[in-house]
Formats: sequence, C-alpha cells, structure tokens
Amino acid sequence: MRVTAVYPGTFDPMTVGHIDVARRASSMFDDLIVAVAASTTKSPFFSLEERVDMATTILSDLDNVTVQSFGGLLVDYASEVGSKVIVRGLRAISDFEYEVQIAGVNRHLAPNIETVFIAAAQEYTFLSSSIVREIARLQGDVSEFVHPEVVESFARRHHRAIHEGYA
Ligand code: ADP
Repeated sequence: MRVTAVYPGTFDPMTVGHIDVARRASSMFDDLIVAVAASTTKSPFFSLEERVDMATTILSDLDNVTVQSFGGLLVDYASEVGSKVIVRGLRAISDFEYEVQIAGVNRHLAPNIETVFIAAAQEYTFLSSSIVREIARLQGDVSEFVHPEVVESFARRHHRAIHEGYA
C-alpha cells in the first residue's frame, strides 16, 4: 500500500527551511502533497496562485511531490486525497505548543490521521516566512533564505509597487 503524506502550510513564501522539510518528507513517504493553504485569516502577501506556482517550480526536481492548494479543514482535505499522514516542521520550543495543539485537534477530528513532526535543520531554526518578508520589504537580500524563484517574485512585486506609486 502506498503511503501519501500531506505537508500543509501557508508557504508565504516557501523558504529553504520548508524545502528541507519537503525534501526529507519526500524520502520518507511514497508520495508527498505540499498543500498550500488559502489561509484567508493570515492575509498572505503572495496570492494563492503565486504561492502554488512558486512551490511547484521549486520542488519540480522531486518526482514524488505534487503541490496543490486547499481551503477548509485540513483533515477533510487529507481524507479527500487519501492521506493518513500530516507532516509539520518543528523549529523550536516556540513552535511546539502551537503545533502540538493543532495536532491534538486534528487527531480529535480524525483519529485515523497521524501528524508526523520533522525537526528543522539546525541552520534553519531561525528562519520563517515572516522574517523573509520583512527583510524583503526593507530591501534586504533574501537570496540565502529562499529559492531564486522567490527572489524574482519579490523583485516583480517591488517593481510593480514602484510602477503603481506606492513603494
Ligand atoms: P503555517 O502553516 O503555520 O502558516 P508555514 O507555512 O510558515 O506555517 O509553515 C508550514 C510548516 O513548516 C509548519 O509546520 C512550520 O512549523 C514549518 N516550518 C516553517 N519554517 C520552517 C523551517 N525554517 N524549518 C523547518 N520547518 C519550518
């Protein structure tokens, strides 16, 4: 039986920390779906389409990985795609409380779905999408933290903002 895992997140944008988790998860399961959350409550910087497109390009070298978008309850989405495994990354103690709480709720909602945590690589424990967005907003260099595709997306956004007169 093939085991499909889902790695959900906002990925606003995907960082090298996310890529590392996706890569490692893809070697643990037969198939991995990177599920990009519509996440209306977080008001993402990049549109859902942009986040899906970037992740698709970034992870295109991993044969057993696909990128999809989803809305609604994660456990419903996981059931729909036939997955019994949710993958989440854990960076630090600060992630722990929130992640364990979500895992507990999801387990309550769908006892047949397991959450598996992958510990962040030491060098990426400080890295978050929000920090990357803040550096980019202040015109800093984010190329160490994200794939070139994301660097380009930030540049496009910046040029558009200048063109439209609000940067
Ligand atoms: P959320 O799903 O809470 O909106 P993100 O999209 O930023 O958060 O991240 C998706 C998942 O990846 C979460 O489990 C998060 O803890 C994890 N993650 C985020 N950044 C890193 C990192 N640098 N290293 C490992 N895991 C990470």
